[in-house]
Amino acid sequence: MKQTANKRQLAKLIQQVERLAPADKPLNIMEVCGAHTMAIGKSGLRQLLPDNIRLLSGPGCPVCVIHDCEIEVYLELARHRNVIIATFGDLLRVPGKKGSSLADARGQGAKVSVVYSTLDALKLAKKNPGKEVVFLGAGFETTAPTVAMSVIQAQEEGIENFSVYSLHKLVPPALEALLLDKEVKIDGFILPGHVSTIIGVEPYYFLAREYHKAGVITGFETHDILQGLVMLLEQIREDNPYVEIQYRRGVLPQGIPLARQVTARVFEPADAWWRGLGLIPKSGLRIRESFRNYDANKKFNIPEPYPNEKEESNKNCACGDILKGIKLPQECRLFGRACTPLNPVGPCMVSSEGACAAYYRFTEFG
Ligand code: SF4
Repeated sequence: MKQTANKRQLAKLIQQVERLAPADKPLNIMEVCGAHTMAIGKSGLRQLLPDNIRLLSGPGCPVCVIHDCEIEVYLELARHRNVIIATFGDLLRVPGKKGSSLADARGQGAKVSVVYSTLDALKLAKKNPGKEVVFLGAGFETTAPTVAMSVIQAQEEGIENFSVYSLHKLVPPALEALLLDKEVKIDGFILPGHVSTIIGVEPYYFLAREYHKAGVITGFETHDILQGLVMLLEQIREDNPYVEIQYRRGVLPQGIPLARQVTARVFEPADAWWRGLGLIPKSGLRIRESFRNYDANKKFNIPEPYPNEKEESNKNCACGDILKGIKLPQECRLFGRACTPLNPVGPCMVSSEGACAAYYRFTEFG
């Protein structure tokens, strides 16, 4: 099928989904990428699919999965008089435990600079030799290689006032944590297109091998998502789960080994906190000892593991349950009332890739 499909082709795919959807039981299909959440919302697919196909948004929005204890660490860093926080804009409004964000910290005098690339963060460090520039490295396997490159470049150029606070998360360990959680019920995964571009197909094999779950690496056009669903439903119907690639124009089975090598040169896997999912073994990335001078944790003596505060901030915010697929955004009592994109209470409403933002924008609330 071409990159875009016409209405007839889409209608045919929907018919295939209807034909393959089991009549006797509902299926929970989780999309594990914020870009999929937005694409599904925008296309109106939820309304077009049979009632017994439930599309759940998983822990795929990089801003949403950052745990409160990590937010508190970078808010504390922002209070250092000598520190400039360099961050991508989507982190600016994410509230921490007490409801304040980097934007609030900036209003109170903290130096917070929105950058558009890691290169900008390095330039900021060069321009401000008397300050320490801390780049907030958030994101999944997709963003880690460019952040790693910035560390390598800083070392090569002898830029000593630059460091990274790594908030990076790895997708496969989070999927395993979901499957080990008794509250979570998932029949198959729409696997992330962008992350898979880097890691390829092999890291997902455990889904079928160890947990008997279906998985399809899927693209972002409406017809991609429908085709991915058809492939998932065929696997489920035949009770033959495996991991396959729908998004062949974007993902090679082997991923991009060079990008993984760059990441592995600078980072090593480490336990990481996730909103809703808690501490997951080897699900994050920390800077290796050989680059310790660029590790904000070491430079600023940030305790490891992170502060032992497992409680997340606003008890009324259901982001944690939404990221696990236990609740839908409209099941949060604040959704569309106390919590809107203009006045967000939790990260799932702040981020453009958050499930609450997508539901708000593309349902009757928007
Ligand atoms: Fe949290 Fe707002 Fe989403 Fe509710 S609607 S879960 S308060 S972000």
